[in-house]
Amino acid sequence: MSDLWRYPFLPDARKAVQGLELETLLDDPLYGEARTLAIERLNAAISDRLEGLGVPVDARDEETYLLSFLFSRLILSAQADSKVINWVALTEALRVEATLNQEAAAVLVHISGQLGVPVKLVGESFQVDYTVYLTATKNLRTGRWKLVNRGVADGKVMLDQRTLVRVLREIVVEHLQALPELPKDLGQKVLERFSPDMESMQVMAKEREERALRELGRLDFGKAPPCFAKHLTDLQAGVNLPHPARFFLTTFLTALGRDPEDIMELYATAPDFKESVTRYQVEHITGKISGTEYDTPSCSSLISQGVCPGGNALCREIVHPLSYYRVMAEREKSDEIRRRRLAQAAGSDDAEFWAQLPLDSPSDAPQRSLAAALDADGPSRVTTQVEHFRGRHTKVDGKYIRWASARLVDDTVVKSLETLPLLQWERALPLAHAKERGEAVEVTLLPVKLGEQRRLHVLAAG
Ligand code: SF4
Repeated sequence: MSDLWRYPFLPDARKAVQGLELETLLDDPLYGEARTLAIERLNAAISDRLEGLGVPVDARDEETYLLSFLFSRLILSAQADSKVINWVALTEALRVEATLNQEAAAVLVHISGQLGVPVKLVGESFQVDYTVYLTATKNLRTGRWKLVNRGVADGKVMLDQRTLVRVLREIVVEHLQALPELPKDLGQKVLERFSPDMESMQVMAKEREERALRELGRLDFGKAPPCFAKHLTDLQAGVNLPHPARFFLTTFLTALGRDPEDIMELYATAPDFKESVTRYQVEHITGKISGTEYDTPSCSSLISQGVCPGGNALCREIVHPLSYYRVMAEREKSDEIRRRRLAQAAGSDDAEFWAQLPLDSPSDAPQRSLAAALDADGPSRVTTQVEHFRGRHTKVDGKYIRWASARLVDDTVVKSLETLPLLQWERALPLAHAKERGEAVEVTLLPVKLGEQRRLHVLAAG
């Protein structure tokens, strides 16, 4: 088979570089290019830009590609960071899936066999023994993957090319996650030589987690509490979540109106997804098979179970993660309600003042010092220090409005100035964060006069 460099995990590819000692690959200057390419390959896989890696131009290049794959496995094994490993495995497998979808049927038959899924070409479909199918799809088995939904005839299942390739992707992921165990001395040597690269890989894996969370997008993750964000990103990166964390995610999503199938899909995007186990857990917790729909645990339970990663300033004002989500929904209220709640939090009934108050930030506010911002007619962007930050609540009609206030200062003013109530916590949290760390923060603000007091109206932060 040509183009083996595209499938470096196949037995054929291993044969092409066999006999090479791992120590030699690590130390011999002859393999410097392969080692450099291995690092590039890992960085590209973690940050999901493998297509930028280029392609080999001749046979020698192809061998370097194969060796770089081998060496990348050495690094992953020594590093033993499950997030890095899972992102690499997932990206490499997605690349393979895209490539296999372009391959001729005969090549697919060969590669399937090498991956332990022997198939026979029948017309334009691929015939596979049902026992092989069951083993190969053990992590898929929802909906269309179920054997009953595929149809079995004479113990055989028929798959079209895309379906077969999707199954192979699962197998490639598993294969890439199963790393060779290195002799202790060799592992230590790899760690010593490549620790700066490994640290940067961990940073990239973290950034990818954050991106994955944003891209999930169907829920408003900007409103999710830190506990939800942490465990969901861990899940996305293939970290094996303990049961209390899975229980929390499932009950939280159920409370936000997600049905069990939706939740299954969310779990299915995790590289370590085990369908049968997960389905049982989800359907039990959501009440589909148990008849009991469990409530989302409170913060105190989550803290005692080790699920709370440590809250932020808003967490200190609430006792339940769902309250966090609701408080973060302030921006979704109508302008009229937002203004009324601002007035209630401020304890002011100056109707004219609140009716004229802008609620959202312009995109083109000029950068100014705090002193200049105080003299300006409109909003300014100001880099400021947070002298004081405090979470507060006001009870209105039996319900709490949870808000924050801060005092902002820079070296162009003598005295700090207090903000109007901050009800939008996506503006308040960067201020709390800056205060905790003693860092400056960029805000867009408008100077206002409430009664006799000069105040700062924060329109954006962070
Ligand atoms: S305090 Fe509550 S809402 Fe905040 S992170 Fe912890 S468990 Fe989640």
